[in-house]
Amino acid sequence: MEYRKLGNSGLQVSALSFGTWLTFGKQIDDKTADSLLSVAYENGVNFFDGAETYARGKAEEVLGKILKSKDWSRSSYIVSSKVFFGWEKDLPNQRGLSRKHIFEACDAALKRFGLDYLDLFFCHRPDKNTPIEETVQAMNTLIQQGKILYWGTSEWSGIEIALAHYYAAKNGLIGPLMEQPQYNMFEREKMEKDYQLLFRDFKMGTTIWSPLASGLLSGKYNNASPQDTRLFIEGMDWLKNRTLAKDRIEKAKRLGQLADRLEIPMPLLGLAWCLKNPNVSTVILGASKVDQLKQNLQALDVVPRLTDKVMNSIENILRNKPVL
Ligand code: NDP
Repeated sequence: MEYRKLGNSGLQVSALSFGTWLTFGKQIDDKTADSLLSVAYENGVNFFDGAETYARGKAEEVLGKILKSKDWSRSSYIVSSKVFFGWEKDLPNQRGLSRKHIFEACDAALKRFGLDYLDLFFCHRPDKNTPIEETVQAMNTLIQQGKILYWGTSEWSGIEIALAHYYAAKNGLIGPLMEQPQYNMFEREKMEKDYQLLFRDFKMGTTIWSPLASGLLSGKYNNASPQDTRLFIEGMDWLKNRTLAKDRIEKAKRLGQLADRLEIPMPLLGLAWCLKNPNVSTVILGASKVDQLKQNLQALDVVPRLTDKVMNSIENILRNKPVL
């Protein structure tokens, strides 16, 4: 496993990490979750990604229970949670980035995990109703209290992140270290355009999500319609419609042909393409089956095979490189 510095910090994060969205506490049983986590850890993965909203808190409970059952040193892994969406949702203060919800969400996540501190705590989305100052102050306080070690954002715009840095610097507070954006062959704007100045001036770290575009870039929808997947879970039509859009399927098919010619399994082509971007600190893998994870963990071996020629061939298929 390769380890990369998480942005401008001393924290080393495995280049491949492991997430729990839609799987833990929902799509898979706890025994499979245990096997997946064990395979990840035994292969050098040191970062496990959670969020208050995943399976309405259950994903973090399952992850916490598994961690507790292992004899893994707390210093050997990094755990995250995210605040914003809440999971109770009914009342106005049960979501967002107010000091109240941030403090309460952090305590609730610690309780679900059964941990004393979170390594990473993300603001899961920007909150248009809370001044960024209040959010920066609250995160800084949690760090001073020892409840979290680093804080970051997810799907914030470059301007919003820059404002958080500006306010933190002006007031001697700790600013955001890392951002968690979607990044894959189809979603490139934030990573390749919007965040360029943040990488240059703040050395921002990134923990990128949906590297396989929810499974589309594994190639399994190219010539089939497998039903035992997240896209066919009840209530996931929004994700199915987005993922299986006609133009995406067409590009995925052509990427599949390229992968065949190169004799690279298609999921590894998609993951290695993400890993090749030097602004990616870690690619968060998702998996509902142990075999998927075992395959995906080979992605680092494929990075050297992405020569300029191969990257150009990919670009010719995608035709979506952000214009700077
Ligand atoms: P991917 O885009 O890689 O999708 C993972 C899913 O694709 C798997 O669960 C599996 O689903 C399918 N898959 C993966 N590998 C293979 C393979 N080799 N062959 C066939 N199918 C495969 O990542 P995720 O969308 O899961 O995102 C990763 C993590 O990022 C999440 O767990 C979460 O921690 C984080 N995240 C953060 C978000 C944010 O807003 N900050 C939003 C979303 C995710 P199936 O078997 O069901 O088809």
